[in-house]
Amino acid sequence: MKKFLAAIIFVAMMMSACGSSEEVPKDVSKSFFADSVALNSGYNMPRLGFGTWTLDDDTAEDCVYFALKVGYRLIDTARYYRNEAGVGKGIRRAIADGIATREEIFVTTKIMPGNYNSPDAAIENSLKTLGLDYVDLMLIHQPGHNDEEVYRAMERAVKAGKIRSIGISNYYTPRDFDRIKNIATIAPAVIQNENHPYYQNEELQSYVKKFGTVIESWYPLGGRGNTQKIFSNETIQSLAKKYSKSPAQIILRWQFQAGYVAIPGSSNKKHIAENFNIFDFRLTAEEMELMRGLNKNRRFENW
Ligand code: NAD
Repeated sequence: MKKFLAAIIFVAMMMSACGSSEEVPKDVSKSFFADSVALNSGYNMPRLGFGTWTLDDDTAEDCVYFALKVGYRLIDTARYYRNEAGVGKGIRRAIADGIATREEIFVTTKIMPGNYNSPDAAIENSLKTLGLDYVDLMLIHQPGHNDEEVYRAMERAVKAGKIRSIGISNYYTPRDFDRIKNIATIAPAVIQNENHPYYQNEELQSYVKKFGTVIESWYPLGGRGNTQKIFSNETIQSLAKKYSKSPAQIILRWQFQAGYVAIPGSSNKKHIAENFNIFDFRLTAEEMELMRGLNKNRRFENW
């Protein structure tokens, strides 16, 4: 009975939100510097990060702090998520506690469509809410009226030292990409799009490579409400068994080897740590082909 109760308490602790306990598993790799990509802006971006969509301010603060403690150095937020304040607090707390320096942390936020008519103010507001002097990457959240002016405002902010790299999100075709690139004086460093085993946009990846632009995957695991559809896939299950890894780790390892930056999200400490523990195994070329073959060209969202 005692053992049973202890097991329940342990599981509950590991399933709890980030703040209740902050122990970090010992087997998590901290080799994040080796695992970064050089952007066309001249800055390096970690290739595995932490996504914060759906986390409220308090949860975001604790989970971002926990993620930084685990070893993540890329944090993704957006004005739209209404958690920039919490994300900023988590980052500043981690810096104050000596977990990482500001230079070592790569912070991304996004300008939301409701602010496309006042992009300069939107940039200032995000910096103020985050409590940071600069962000490492700012993205246009999605195509929309006035997005070209938004891009120009981000370029001005780069020159003013408020943003280091700029990019776009939810632009899915070479034509969508070209519309922005053709008015740009600074080529997009990153495109953040839905990208997972069932939607692999290789056409866009190889097109934008010419401009040094990197694809960053949102919904890297299939996203909210969809993960089990992908986790239960036979190929992913058998690779998980072979490497004694979870389906999530197999998918994130595939994302990594396929050249994508992935930003899995969670408020579960066990999952946050697990998702960062993908640097001690490698999928073979044949296994990468098997993963590639899972593409159904099917997105789960339509924005
Ligand atoms: P995701 O693919 O990371 O999946 C998250 C879901 O998987 C959650 O339900 C989570 O509880 C679960 N999960 C996470 N790790 C797990 C594990 N190891 N085992 C089992 N389940 C696990 O989807 P997401 O978080 O929505 O997307 C990632 C990030 O991308 C977001 O947090 C956000 O920062 C960003 N995003 C950007 C856009 C955009 O339009 N630019 C859209 C959506 C998300």
